[in-house]
Amino acid sequence: MTGDSSVGIIGGGLAGLAAARTLGKLGHRAVVFDKGRGPGGRSASRRAAPFAFDHGAQYFTARDPDFRRSLEKWLENGVVSRWDGRLVSLRAGRSRPVRGGTERFVGVPQMNALAKFLASDVEVHCRTRVGSIEHATTGWKLFGEDGGELGEFARLVIAMPPAQAAALIGDQSPLGRRAAAIRMRPCWAVLLGLAEPYGVAFDGAFCEASALSWVCRDSSKPGRPSAEAWVLHASAEWTEEHLDEPPEIIADTLPRELERLTGMPLPRVLNRDAHHWRFAQPDSEREAGVPVDRDRGLVLAGDAYSGGRIEGAYLSGVAAARSLVG
Ligand SMILES: Cc1cc2nc3c(=O)[nH]c(=O)nc-3n(C[C@H](O)[C@H](O)[C@H](O)COP(=O)(O)OP(=O)(O)OC[C@H]3O[C@@H](n4cnc5c(N)ncnc54)[C@H](O)[C@@H]3O)c2cc1C
Repeated sequence: MTGDSSVGIIGGGLAGLAAARTLGKLGHRAVVFDKGRGPGGRSASRRAAPFAFDHGAQYFTARDPDFRRSLEKWLENGVVSRWDGRLVSLRAGRSRPVRGGTERFVGVPQMNALAKFLASDVEVHCRTRVGSIEHATTGWKLFGEDGGELGEFARLVIAMPPAQAAALIGDQSPLGRRAAAIRMRPCWAVLLGLAEPYGVAFDGAFCEASALSWVCRDSSKPGRPSAEAWVLHASAEWTEEHLDEPPEIIADTLPRELERLTGMPLPRVLNRDAHHWRFAQPDSEREAGVPVDRDRGLVLAGDAYSGGRIEGAYLSGVAAARSLVG
């Protein structure tokens, strides 16, 4: 697997997939490797019948004109839909409606639908963790966890959280140090399937003065099963203080915090899981510019370099591809 225009991409989240599609349009062969069972990374969904959960990204907004143009196509294709959930900001005993004209969008039938759609005309190798990379005069060699060679590419896009990117790059490029300097914050997520609807008058809440930062009635999103599904996200601070707690404790503690905030007991819980996101969101809003090492044909992509959200991740993949071959 080599050739002057071949590009290897490590990471099949929205940044890596956007990079692959952009490279394809520019006439380059792009091959994506992802360690997950499917593409999508943190834009993730999980089913536990009859419930469906988006336990990573909850929804996305679209501000950039290029991103909005792509969004129009996804809406036409039905892989994305607008979500008009009733949102509030929530403090113990008090909730205030969130006003303002922000449009929010979700993948349909699950959040990972967009990644699946973007991956549909891209060569993606899932369940393939890249264990090491090696820069040679001809380009970059990629190796699996077992040391077996995965391929050799003229250029390389690394589209994964910065700490993981830094570990792969090491001292083979100055970009290793640049990635190592970016801090990502963790998030505990709890997935709750309920026997009946929770009687609160909102579908999503930004939580204040709480261990929780966000809670969402996932079953209120378009195209989801009707079974009452909630996702609770802990704040980064609280997660950092409870990193080593067993998932069962987290899955018990955060629902109780939701009850405290709303003053309403939850209906019978039929499904209860906790998921730990080690690298959930970047600490700072924006890293300036695309990190590119032209001498070695290496570029970094991902939300950490472009605003920390789905829109930023996607745009960073597009920008990374263009800067590598443009
Ligand atoms: C809890 C949570 C809530 C969020 N809420 C929102 C929200 O409401 N709105 C919003 O816009 N954004 C939200 N985000 C952020 C959003 O999910 C990310 O900005 C976006 O998905 C990042 O995409 P990415 O491609 O940069 O990275 P990722 O999605 O992390 O993709 C990186 C990929 O690299 C792969 N990988 C890592 N190491 C290797 C390896 N060695 N070999 C092969 N593959 C590897 C991973 O499997 C992964 O698929 C949230 C994130 C989390 C975790």
